[in-house]
Amino acid sequence: MDKVEIKRIKNILKDKATSIVIVSHVNPDGDAVGSSLGLFHYLRNAGYKKVNVISPNAFPEFLSWMPGSEKIILANQQSKIASELLKNAAVLFCLDFNDMERTDDLSARLKKSTATKILIDHHPDPQPGFHIVLSQVTASSTAELMYEFFEALQGVEYIDKTVAECLYAGIITDTGSFSFACNNPRTYHITAILIALGVDGEKIHRLIYDTYSEDRMRLLGYCLSEKLKVLKEHKTSYIWLSANDLQRFNFKEGDTEGVVNYGLSIKGIALTAIFIERKDNIKISLRSEGQVNVNVLARKYFNGGGHKNAAGGNHKDTLENTLTYFENLLEQISTDNFKALDEIAEND
Ligand code: 5GP
Ligand code: MN
Repeated sequence: MDKVEIKRIKNILKDKATSIVIVSHVNPDGDAVGSSLGLFHYLRNAGYKKVNVISPNAFPEFLSWMPGSEKIILANQQSKIASELLKNAAVLFCLDFNDMERTDDLSARLKKSTATKILIDHHPDPQPGFHIVLSQVTASSTAELMYEFFEALQGVEYIDKTVAECLYAGIITDTGSFSFACNNPRTYHITAILIALGVDGEKIHRLIYDTYSEDRMRLLGYCLSEKLKVLKEHKTSYIWLSANDLQRFNFKEGDTEGVVNYGLSIKGIALTAIFIERKDNIKISLRSEGQVNVNVLARKYFNGGGHKNAAGGNHKDTLENTLTYFENLLEQISTDNFKALDEIAEND
């Protein structure tokens, strides 16, 4: 952690009555919610009185076990409360995103806020607008960075089991239970500390991954047996879901979380995607192996972004046209293990 920036933050947080708001990205995942609630509990343990967490919209049901999740203000449902909190905030922690636009309808209010904006994140290329930036692309998750931030800020004594559980959830969800973005002793070192603080890792794993509704499990089966296309010549696979498909399985927010990863489990596949029909666009999630840079693919062709091996975006067209657009794109970019994406990145 940058010592100068930490000193600045310590100064800003001198008064325990400072009004603090924690914000994360739209469609929050385990890292977004885990980092936000981890910081919430840490600050409360350290004696801060006015700490609130705002999420642009609802988090998936499988994260609702997290202590304090019921206190999260959902801006799309409690818009007035969110506006009031943001208006009065002196400090704004922005977690697990690199661009205000990632907070959807909240972004205008964030930009307008006079609070000191502190970004803690692990996505590449943080955008302007934040006063203090603690960004490390090498971190597995924002939750991992939060641990180091806490260590530097007021010391580890305020990291209790509750804080540790939130951070643990962030780390396991962003690494697919230690299967990607974690080839780093630091991730395991911090995880070991969290376990030593009393986290029941097995229990948390069950709470996150073994709490599927029957509909969600059958939707996964349907995706894999009926809606998975494999394009061996492009080392690519993809899944597509129409609004009707979602309706058939009584879709709830979070039900498609993780489905995209299965496409990479096929031998010889280096890139995979899932296309989901939404009200006004097609949401796309991308995953890749090794050198294939899906962050570039999402940024350049799908109005999005993310990490090198996990990214997302959207496309404003019909589902059918979006799939054709994607397949045509593959013709251009898939040769030589998707080298074209590196060339685009270099010329950016
Ligand atoms: P997921 O595919 O699980 O929604 O997201 C994978 C990664 O891509 C996450 O790090 C997420 O922050 C990023 N991401 C997903 N959708 C978007 C998007 O629409 N815009 C940007 N900039 N990043 C996205
Ligand atoms: Mn993250």
